[in-house]
Amino acid sequence: MSDFSRINKILENSKTIIVAGHVNPDPDCMGSSLAVCSILRSMGKEVYLYRSDKYPYNGAFLENSDSASETVPDFEPDLYFILDSATPQRTGDEFFAKMSVSKSKKILFDHHWHQDNGFYEAEVSDEGASATAAIVYRWAKDIGHELTKGEAEDICFGIFGDTGGLRYASADKEALFIVSELSEIINYGEFCSKFFETLPENWFAMFAEVIQSMEKFCDGKVVFLKTSLEQLERFKLSIDEIDPFVEEIRRINSVRIVFRIREVEPGKLWKFSVRSKGDVNCIPIAQKFGGGGHKNAAGFTFHGTLEEGRKAVIEIAETLEL
Ligand code: 5GP
Ligand code: MN
Repeated sequence: MSDFSRINKILENSKTIIVAGHVNPDPDCMGSSLAVCSILRSMGKEVYLYRSDKYPYNGAFLENSDSASETVPDFEPDLYFILDSATPQRTGDEFFAKMSVSKSKKILFDHHWHQDNGFYEAEVSDEGASATAAIVYRWAKDIGHELTKGEAEDICFGIFGDTGGLRYASADKEALFIVSELSEIINYGEFCSKFFETLPENWFAMFAEVIQSMEKFCDGKVVFLKTSLEQLERFKLSIDEIDPFVEEIRRINSVRIVFRIREVEPGKLWKFSVRSKGDVNCIPIAQKFGGGGHKNAAGFTFHGTLEEGRKAVIEIAETLEL
């Protein structure tokens, strides 16, 4: 179990708290942030929730899902409480610029592999945790907080996000246990419906087109997948809505690793997602390009042309033992 004593001591002496996650927030980042805010508010804290970008569209049903602000606050809090973002720079350029020169205390809950960067006064970072939301659950238990239905949904949303609804290798005993405990607070069937059954119809049309253009290498063990801004516009989809494409491709039985490149700025800025199965480790690949993540799911930003990005990852894939 994690040791929250330093975290709790700092919280005791903090009244105003800014809570933030990472850029391009995913469900774990969103769920963890919302749950922590709600718990802190029930403790009588004054909380400002910051997000650098839009939250995932399928989290709109969560309580207080619209409570985050995209404006970097102009006050100094007693404490910065960061979630799911071991690398402090990943909180966003403008936010990090403020936080990095602040003398206020900073704490972190996270589950990404990282070297101690000395940035946070106290952190609970457990690479073994399925999700940052699982750490939020541990903390709630530690302080004897009884979760509300809204908080339970936030935590379930985070765990579902990082375990694909308890389907990925990251779905460990603890994740299953927590979700089982949460099912006594939330309506599980209703929650699953809100989590899984939210795809816009156009999603399938664009996915069909993307599959047509995907490339396979190494006897189908490696897949390269691309999406463009033009496609998003044509299919009227947002970048977070097409997030699951990469996971769907991993379901093909021959596939060992998937590289998915999404266009962010026309022709020059791209977001890579890397997904693998079993022992194929995505972390060193993402790190080569300045990114990071987990063994079976990592990502990085790529500056260059589509062809340069494609070539770079295929060259790496060809050196892997698959
Ligand atoms: P995704 O492919 O869904 O964007 O990211 C998969 C995982 O890799 C997530 O845990 C995410 O936090 C991490 N990740 C994605 N992009 C980056 C990046 O640019 N830097 C770091 N450090 N981690 C990333
Ligand atoms: Mn996470």
